[in-house]
Amino acid sequence: MKVPTNKISDAFGFYLGELLNSYENREARSMLYLLISHLFNFEKIDFVKNPEERLSESELLKLHFAVKRLLQNEPLQYIIGETEFMGLRFRVDSNVLIPRPETEELIQLILGDEIVQVGSRILDVGCGSGCIGITIKKQYSQSEVSILDISEEALKLAQENAEINDALVNVIHADILNEEEWSDLGKFNLLISNPPYVRESEKKLMQRNVLDFEPSNALFVPDKDPLLFYRKIARFSQTHLEKEGSLYFEINEAFGLETKQMLDEMGFYKVEIFKDINGKDRFVKSLK
Ligand code: GLN
Repeated sequence: MKVPTNKISDAFGFYLGELLNSYENREARSMLYLLISHLFNFEKIDFVKNPEERLSESELLKLHFAVKRLLQNEPLQYIIGETEFMGLRFRVDSNVLIPRPETEELIQLILGDEIVQVGSRILDVGCGSGCIGITIKKQYSQSEVSILDISEEALKLAQENAEINDALVNVIHADILNEEEWSDLGKFNLLISNPPYVRESEKKLMQRNVLDFEPSNALFVPDKDPLLFYRKIARFSQTHLEKEGSLYFEINEAFGLETKQMLDEMGFYKVEIFKDINGKDRFVKSLK
């Protein structure tokens, strides 16, 4: 790749051309704007007003490597190291899933139900970047929020995100699938989880930017046991959720009925399936 001059407008035109080999116009433009504003703190508007502005050699090099990563399908959020979720800023890297809009809908569902009270104890199982627990804590500062994950790298990032967002949460390193680790965990009034739910066989339908860069242990479950995490977390709830406590899941759209049936059989009540904005079964809530 060779940039004609180090004027920002020329660099923009050049790298836009490169990105158009892999992305469609609108996406390429908006990614490049974001990249430039993030790397050099230029607001879009300054850049349009001052097209003569020049980039130093080292700035050009930074832009060059960032664009190269985009051309290899790496998600922009990993390249700039952050994303936005429910209006809050979260650091992300390849140890955690990039928070999805569906998960924002899950939060909206919980907020709409107004179930959190002063002193409510809340647990987010499989927290990744921490986006669920931290957002809930920001909304309900008087609740006691714990976030749990098996990945120490994810927890480090989640802790950082809690600090960035000025939210005090309790960070727990545990494997929820291992029942021997349950006894130390205490009791909760609200349990929330967006666990791995994509079947291995669904890989062929997925994009390279997800498959090559996002952590597979946060995404995939074996085809022969797609409800693995749901069954375990529901069992965990039998002993670690207070009576009248609530359980909220984000789910694979193919398993709404199975998940509901499982929770019904395990004795949870008011088990309900909710659709996401695309009309897919995406959330299940229940009461103990
Ligand atoms: N919705 C995510 C995806 O599309 C999956 C999230 C999960 O497995 N919990 O890739």
